[in-house]
Amino acid sequence: MRFPLALTVKIARHIVKHKLKGTPRFAMVLQLEPLHTCNLTCTGCGRIREYSTSLKDMVPLEQCLAAATECDAPMVSICGGEPLIYPKIEELVAGLRAQGRIIYICTNGVFMRKKMREYMAANWSPAVERQLASLVAEGLVTEKEAEQIRNADAAARAKVTIPPSKWHYWNVHVDGLEYTHDLIVEREGVFKECVAAIKMAKILGYQCATNTTVYRETDPKEIEDMFKFLSSLDVDGHTISPGYDYDAAKKDMVKRLGRDPKEFFLTRDMTRTKFADIEKWAKAFTIFGTPAYQEFLAGKRELTCTAWAIPTYNVRGWKAPCYLMTDGHYPRYEEMLGKVNWEKYGVVDGVARDPRCENCMVHCGYDPSGALSTKPRDTWQNFKFNFGAKPAPYAHTPELEQRAYNGFTIGKGHLAEAKAAVNREMGGAKSAFARGGNGLADDHSGHEHESAGGGGGCGSGDSTQRDALLTKIRDGKALEAKPE
Ligand code: SF4
Ligand code: SF4
Repeated sequence: MRFPLALTVKIARHIVKHKLKGTPRFAMVLQLEPLHTCNLTCTGCGRIREYSTSLKDMVPLEQCLAAATECDAPMVSICGGEPLIYPKIEELVAGLRAQGRIIYICTNGVFMRKKMREYMAANWSPAVERQLASLVAEGLVTEKEAEQIRNADAAARAKVTIPPSKWHYWNVHVDGLEYTHDLIVEREGVFKECVAAIKMAKILGYQCATNTTVYRETDPKEIEDMFKFLSSLDVDGHTISPGYDYDAAKKDMVKRLGRDPKEFFLTRDMTRTKFADIEKWAKAFTIFGTPAYQEFLAGKRELTCTAWAIPTYNVRGWKAPCYLMTDGHYPRYEEMLGKVNWEKYGVVDGVARDPRCENCMVHCGYDPSGALSTKPRDTWQNFKFNFGAKPAPYAHTPELEQRAYNGFTIGKGHLAEAKAAVNREMGGAKSAFARGGNGLADDHSGHEHESAGGGGGCGSGDSTQRDALLTKIRDGKALEAKPE
């Protein structure tokens, strides 16, 4: 089976229950943002901008668990910011499991190995020595760390940790192969760390997925290579979604400067071109996302936005109308459902009800539309897709490995040059990458981020910035790699 049976059955039951009751709108996935603090400063991150005044704020544990109960979504995606910074992340995962939910921890991967070492220390016994030996042999745990695991003190043994479970996925943010990913997250070595974390997770029996956003300048060939590489690591599934920009200020700029919007935005047509091979990818790799959503991305059909099915809860409350766009926050889920005029949003018959929705085809607005469809063809396609065979892992070859580690690992410690080149090319103008005009290395401690007019968390947000960066990577003119 493509997905674990128990998870598929749980989601199907939830849909059937609400369909039988005639519930007009209900939650499928809760996007829970317990905090917006992050250890990275990715180019164009929407969350660290939109919530720049609340980077130090957190949703208390009890409130997080109450939000999950309130909307009763069968799946909870814990995102942020970086959720592994949340001091009660282990208790949050345990609490959501006690509620019977499927959990995705959306992480940039940097703290995953630490969290898994803590799990090993709390649960060490001679029986896990074989796993520990494998981790040391693979260089995923050092000898010193292994000793710390074996000799954990009482506090480490008593710590609540995140154990492997079929109900829980690590969902690691990966936006390309090493060179691209490290530049986008603005730190060398992050791709390598993500891969190490995925390898360690698989050895320990965790389920591991990845989350990728496609931008205007993303090379689909690189995405395919990335999937091949991740598949060779036995990753359990991939979410892939188009990034897009709707920021009113940028649109105004387009209007005033008379520039073609295609220079700035991933339009619907462009998304369809980028995702032309999505159905082929879904056959070869374990892509999460309904067949209807895949057809929608490939331009073979239209869907109506069902953003209410993936509500977002954060430090300000229930965010409406969707994960990306903010027209308000509500204290209660039911209040949000009732007060928001959902008919104002989305694209129907090719006409955007709200101009900001015009180019949006994102997962959080349209994937549930496929899952909730009652058309017999969609039901059959969903059944076939979910109960069909899981694609076999891609063979791990030296060529694949070489293509994946194409940056920092082979000595292209390029980040400083990249930043310099980008700023140089921008001439005297304020760099697209300079947050507050101070260059790339924003430390998140200040509160000077300009509002991007709303944006997503990992992998989404100000895609114009990422596109500009991807252009530099692609043309290779400004970013001359050091000789290997
Ligand atoms: S179409 Fe996109 S931007 Fe508009 S409400 Fe739906 S998810 Fe949000
Ligand atoms: S995109 Fe994700 S990992 Fe990057 S800065 Fe934003 S929240 Fe952090």
